Amino acid sequence: MRAAALAGRTASGANSAAVEYESIIGLEVHCQLLTASKIFCGCSAAFGEAPNSHTCPVCLGLPGVLPVLNEKALEYALKVALACHCRINLESRFARKNYFYPDLPKGYQISQYELPLAEDGYLELKIGDQRRRIGLVRIHLEEDAGKSIHDGLPGTDRYSYVDFNRTGVPLIEIVSQPDLRAPADATDFLTQLKAVVQYLGVCDGNMEEGSLRCDANVSVRPAGHPELLPKTEVKNLNSFRHVHKALEYEIERQIQLLETGGRLVQETRLWDSAAKATQPMRSKEQAHDYRYFPEPDLPPMVISAERLEQIRAALPELAEQRAARLARQYGLPEYDAGVLTLSRSLADYYEAVVAAGAEPKLASNWVMGELLRVVKAERADQGEFPVPAAELAALVKMVQSRALSAANAKEVFALMVARAQGAAQLVEELGVAAIRDRGPVEAAVAQVIAAHPGPVAQVRGGKTATLGFLIGQVMKATRGQADPQVVREVLQEALDREPE
Ligand code: ZN
Ligand code: MN
Repeated sequence: MRAAALAGRTASGANSAAVEYESIIGLEVHCQLLTASKIFCGCSAAFGEAPNSHTCPVCLGLPGVLPVLNEKALEYALKVALACHCRINLESRFARKNYFYPDLPKGYQISQYELPLAEDGYLELKIGDQRRRIGLVRIHLEEDAGKSIHDGLPGTDRYSYVDFNRTGVPLIEIVSQPDLRAPADATDFLTQLKAVVQYLGVCDGNMEEGSLRCDANVSVRPAGHPELLPKTEVKNLNSFRHVHKALEYEIERQIQLLETGGRLVQETRLWDSAAKATQPMRSKEQAHDYRYFPEPDLPPMVISAERLEQIRAALPELAEQRAARLARQYGLPEYDAGVLTLSRSLADYYEAVVAAGAEPKLASNWVMGELLRVVKAERADQGEFPVPAAELAALVKMVQSRALSAANAKEVFALMVARAQGAAQLVEELGVAAIRDRGPVEAAVAQVIAAHPGPVAQVRGGKTATLGFLIGQVMKATRGQADPQVVREVLQEALDREPE
């Protein structure tokens, strides 16, 4: 069972004492910044446009042009660095990272090497009731490469293609300390980091679309062993699930290798999600020598202390602060506030429902219950909800004014999702508006009393627990449309009268 590798694993050979292993994981995360234009030219940084429609001599690396830093990219990177408690280098430097690949037209990537923008930060993970700080080595700015398309075009699949639209889109690279100990730590870290960049509004955090990309460095060693053993770098992890599965696999593979007397080598491996395995990509001997050197076409990046303070002062609310505010402002339990702030878009949605007049706790129950049951977490995360906030508010308000029973409201909600129709229209169409006049309820009560003499006698004899059964029968007789409070009143009055 691979999961055995999660928290350290005990294995015993025929002649050896049981060995427990620990795993050591560090992550390198690239986040695409949501700027309108690219990092060193004025081309649009928009995703999903016609191939090679957003290019110019600068991002194509033609001779005789000079890059100019996009100040917005710097501002976004600083926001992340500040939110992650980093030390900011007021003067940092760009460097050329040289390598050859068809999607890199200049033959080098403008990145940062010595003197990055920010160093020594941390993210705080909540593990149960405990908080653990995961250190960040650095956060730096760099440009993205283009995109190779190997699938080919219909009828011409002998070729690969390159789309340069992504070339020069701003990225931040975030390098963690090797402070993570299990695959679940790694996904917790990513979840937290994604929340930070989404709350800051600097990255959409969409791993499937590649705007958040993660490589993992992982090694194992017998617990307590003083030195680190060779690590592997695992690439091609494009979802949280893949990160988790690839790390589980890789930890187990390394332990097996040690157990069978094999030798670990430092290498880069690719996660193959179809084979559910990591495959070797290149060993240390073939590792890139990037021949970093300072970028001569860009001056050092200088940030004034005033500007840094302005950005710090304007940092928006992050998840934890927002949870505290929701609990305070709307009187929500801490649990609700935590769930509702898992993503910024979910918290925005909830607050829009409340702003449209829904009672806060009832709105929270509906968002956490019915809504999150039907919307996939990844979609909610990207702000894609099946029912507009105003429509959910309309439904919740009907429940709260007792114009609609809770059970019927759930049915109406399911149809709102399925048919994309409004609450009022569906309530009308289904004829499920609550019966609040006493007439029909009185008739149903008389019917139920006549049909259940036994329970009626019990209640009259003082066994009040049976009242619930009778209420249920009246609700059933009114197809769930009667207002439970009216039912209770009418029933109580009828039972209080002397039996005829
Ligand atoms: Zn350009
Ligand atoms: Mn990088």
